[in-house]
Amino acid sequence: MKDTNTFESVKATFTEYLVKNQHRKTPERFAILEHIAEIDGHFTAEVLYKNMQTNFRVSLASVYNNLDLLTKTGLLTRHQFGSHPAEYERTFHTNVHHHLVCSNCGKIKEFTDKNLKETIESKNFNNFLPTHFTLYIYGYCNKCKHIM
Ligand SMILES: [Zn+2]
Ligand SMILES: [Zn+2]
Repeated sequence: MKDTNTFESVKATFTEYLVKNQHRKTPERFAILEHIAEIDGHFTAEVLYKNMQTNFRVSLASVYNNLDLLTKTGLLTRHQFGSHPAEYERTFHTNVHHHLVCSNCGKIKEFTDKNLKETIESKNFNNFLPTHFTLYIYGYCNKCKHIM
């Protein structure tokens, strides 16, 4: 797995990807990455777009495009829970965690598990280069469990 301990190494990972895949290295892309580095937890493209309007003008299309590129680099996880809009979260500067997803209302609760983390990290996968991981457990939150 790549070193993403410092923001410089995160930027280097993104830069390397852009160069290798012939995408332009625009200031806009790095402004988006900097904003993402400041967001703890999940966010939608809309929220990131709105957050950015105060100090950097970007189009919503460009936000979507860059979220897509960053997902491809493994620096972002893209979550799609039911019919909710896609949520993103950074995989750098954060702890490995998993998600309890309510099948009824879409509420998400996060949890960590040291043993699970160690088990997965020590696994060797044939012909596959792992970058990050998260587990989803589906069920019903406290408010919704009465429906079943
Ligand atoms: Zn999460
Ligand atoms: Zn629920």
